Amino acid sequence: MIATEPRVAVIGGGINGAGAAWELARRGYEVVLFDKGICGAQTSSATTKMIHGGLRYLERMHVALVRESLRERAWLLEHLPQLVHPLEILLPLYDDSPRRRTTIATGLVLYDRLAGRAKIAAHQFLPAATVAARAPLRSDGLRGGFVYWDAQVDDFALVRSVVASAARDGATIREETRVDALRRDGDAWIVQTNRGDASRFDLIVNAAGPWMNELLRANGLAARYVLSLVRGGHLVLTRRISDTGLLLQSTTDRRVFFVLPWKETTLVGTTEVVQRESPDGVHASEEEIEYLIARYNRYFREPLPRADVASTFAGVRPLVGRAANPSAIGRDFRVVRDGNMVNVFGGKMTTFMALARKVALRVDNYFGRTRVAREPVFAVSLESRA
Ligand SMILES: Cc1cc2nc3c(=O)[nH]c(=O)nc-3n(C[C@H](O)[C@H](O)[C@H](O)COP(=O)(O)OP(=O)(O)OC[C@H]3O[C@@H](n4cnc5c(N)ncnc54)[C@H](O)[C@@H]3O)c2cc1C
Repeated sequence: MIATEPRVAVIGGGINGAGAAWELARRGYEVVLFDKGICGAQTSSATTKMIHGGLRYLERMHVALVRESLRERAWLLEHLPQLVHPLEILLPLYDDSPRRRTTIATGLVLYDRLAGRAKIAAHQFLPAATVAARAPLRSDGLRGGFVYWDAQVDDFALVRSVVASAARDGATIREETRVDALRRDGDAWIVQTNRGDASRFDLIVNAAGPWMNELLRANGLAARYVLSLVRGGHLVLTRRISDTGLLLQSTTDRRVFFVLPWKETTLVGTTEVVQRESPDGVHASEEEIEYLIARYNRYFREPLPRADVASTFAGVRPLVGRAANPSAIGRDFRVVRDGNMVNVFGGKMTTFMALARKVALRVDNYFGRTRVAREPVFAVSLESRA
């Protein structure tokens, strides 16, 4: 009899499911990745497109998350330079900025330290005239600003690259195939899809992002963590207004938001609004669009006419936990194994490789053997969304 490898179904082809499928394929598992639509077309292509530690998470002392994210940032910059590149971020300070210069300086010192030798360049303080020369900002009340470095990615192309890498390394990719039902059959699972087929797997990885608890509930399965679904909207402007990215502070609610060069355009975002409806067909609301335009207009010399907003997009963050203020919820992920089901809760795009390794450890653990993964080599895709 020919010995076969364990069969693993990964449900959800966003960055997290795609990353897990790739890692498992490189460890020799027989993997099938299911997505109800096109892999990467949901949350994972509606991001701010930053591969970053997340300076703002230091304010809430999420130091471990920032350290891990900075390590992953360094790895992606080295291994996927076709899609991930350094981006200079300017953080201007005004008379009415909600955070003091010393607070931001402390955060940036820590940010550089946590990046260690992997830091792109050390942060700097710039006088007001230099800040105003680098970006078309209003100069009344401008007191200078910091510059620091992070990285930017084409998020959709990243997922397509990971999916292509997983396929090349042996995973089967089933797009436009929704998993409708999960049924236990002895030690195995029967996975039933909307295409009318049902197949047998030794283990399931549920990486359905904002839909993951919905999938569990529909199949009468318990979830270890509550997810908060928090929508984030972005504006895409008709033109590129600056080659430097900007991290700006809303003076009304202390939130921060980005204004970033994105190809020939500019991205403005994001918002944080609790999503009560299903994440299907999510879009930025009129209030979110107005909110972002108003915040933008506080800072730029030229006000933003509505006609300069070429398009908008939104995604739903699956965040672990609950809080009255969505900004307060951490961005770290949890990977929980319950018998032969592994559930993925939360996670940033930046940390998808770390998340995938954790999923694989849980899977190895179930089958009782630690497998060594083949070296990850990206099959680069330049597939992009507008
Ligand atoms: C506004 C916003 C900005 C962000 N900015 C950043 C950023 O700049 N940097 C960063 O690192 N992170 C960022 N994030 C976080 C990051 O984008 C997400 O955490 C990450 O994309 C989640 O990926 P995922 O694979 O878990 O979910 P998704 O990308 O949503 O993937 C889940 C997939 O599951 C599929 N699916 C669902 N149900 C089923 C089913 N029954 N059968 C088959 N398939 C199913 C869906 O079609 C979907 O493709 C941002 C998130 C948001 C919302």
